[in-house]
Amino acid sequence: MSDSGPNSFESTPSGQDYGLVRPRAWAEIDLAAVTANIARLGDVATGAQLMAVVKADAYGHGLVPVARTARAAGAHWLGVALLEEALTLRSVGDTGRILAWLPTPGDQFAACIRGDIDLGISADWMLTEVAAAAAMIGRKARVHLKIDTGLGRSGATPSDWPSFLRAAVAAARRNEIEVVGIWTHLAYADSPDHPTIASQLEVFDAAVTAAAKVGLDVEFRHVANSAATLKSPESHFDLVRPGIAIYGISPGPEVGTPASLGLRPAMTLGARLASVKRLPPGHGVSYAHQYVTNKETNVGLVPLGYADGIARCASNRGPVLAAGKIRPVAGRICMDQFVIDIGDDEARAGDEVLLFGSGDRGEATAHDWAVATDSIAYEVVATVGPRVKRIYR
Ligand SMILES: *Cc1c(COP(=O)(O)O)cnc(C)c1O
Repeated sequence: MSDSGPNSFESTPSGQDYGLVRPRAWAEIDLAAVTANIARLGDVATGAQLMAVVKADAYGHGLVPVARTARAAGAHWLGVALLEEALTLRSVGDTGRILAWLPTPGDQFAACIRGDIDLGISADWMLTEVAAAAAMIGRKARVHLKIDTGLGRSGATPSDWPSFLRAAVAAARRNEIEVVGIWTHLAYADSPDHPTIASQLEVFDAAVTAAAKVGLDVEFRHVANSAATLKSPESHFDLVRPGIAIYGISPGPEVGTPASLGLRPAMTLGARLASVKRLPPGHGVSYAHQYVTNKETNVGLVPLGYADGIARCASNRGPVLAAGKIRPVAGRICMDQFVIDIGDDEARAGDEVLLFGSGDRGEATAHDWAVATDSIAYEVVATVGPRVKRIYR
C-alpha cells in the first residue's frame, strides 16, 4: 500500500464520502416497521422462540441495522445462511444466539465454534469437519441436525438419518459436538393447505423420536419459515425462523397481503430523475426500440438498472410512481438506467420517483414488481444492489 502511485484508488473516497446530500437512488428502510413485524410474529408464535432470518444482507435491507433492530425487538436468535454472515454479526458485537446453516467444505468452522455460533449440520461431511475443527481448538460445537423431510434440498434423507445420528452420537461422546437442535424446512409452507405440510411434519416427528432413542434429546426443534409461522401453528415447535415477514412482505399470495397478515413493508425504493425531455411521436426508446412513443410525450430517465437489481425482464412492465401516477417502464432496462413515459405530465430532473414501497403513497409494492417480473417479492428486495444507498428511519 505504501508504494501506491498517484493513480492509486487507495485514498479515493466512496460515493457516499463525497457528501452527496441528494442521492441518485435510495432504499429507505423503516426499522420501526421491522420492530412492529417482529412483535407481530412473536404474538403469532407465543410459546416458541423467534429467530430473525437476516441472511443475504437481511434480504437487501442491511445486515447490521436489521440485526440490531431485531435484537432490540426481542429476537432470541438471528439466522443466516453463510458462516461469514454469522462472523460479521460477531465482529460488530452481537453476542446472542446465531445459527448459520450453509457452509461448504473447508469453511470457517473453527472461527465459528470460537465465536459461539450454532451450526446447522445437513450432511456427513459437515459433521466430520465440524467435529475435527472442535477437536483441534478444544471446544465443543453446538449443532442442529437437519432432516430432509421432503423438500429435497439440504439435510439427511430419512434413509440416511440413522447413520447420521450414529455419527453425531459418536462425535458427542468425544465431546466434539453438542446436539441442541433438530430441524427441517417445508416445501409448500406458502400453500397453507398443502398436504405435504402434514406429511413433512410426520417425518420430522419420527426423526425427533429416533434421535431421542439414541440419547439426543434436543432443546430446539424447528421447522417454520414466515409462511408456516403465520399459517401453520402445528409447525412452531420450540423456535420459528421467519425471514421475509420481518421485512413486512407476505411469503406469497396464498398466505395473504401484508395488511391482512398485520405486517408493514419496511423497504421503499426510490430514485431521482436524471433528466426529462420531450420526444416526438414514433420515437424508439432505449436499446432495440422495444417501446415507441405513440404521440409527442415527456420521458424521464430513472438512474437505476439491472446492476442495481432492477430485473431486466421488467422492461416495458415495471410500475414506477412518477409525477403522481404509476407508469410502466418504457423500453428495455439497461445496466444503470431506464426510461419512463410520463405523457404530458410535468416533471423535472431531480424529481423523486418510487419503484416500490408500502403502497401508502400510491406507489407499487415489491409484490407488484414480482408480478411484473414473474418472480417473488423475496427476489425483488434481496437483489437491490450495493450501489443503492440505504437510508434508515
Ligand atoms: C431463508 C430461510 C428461512 C426464512 O424463510 P422465509 O420464507 O423468508 O421466512 C428459514 N429457514 C431457512 C432454512 C431458510 O433458508
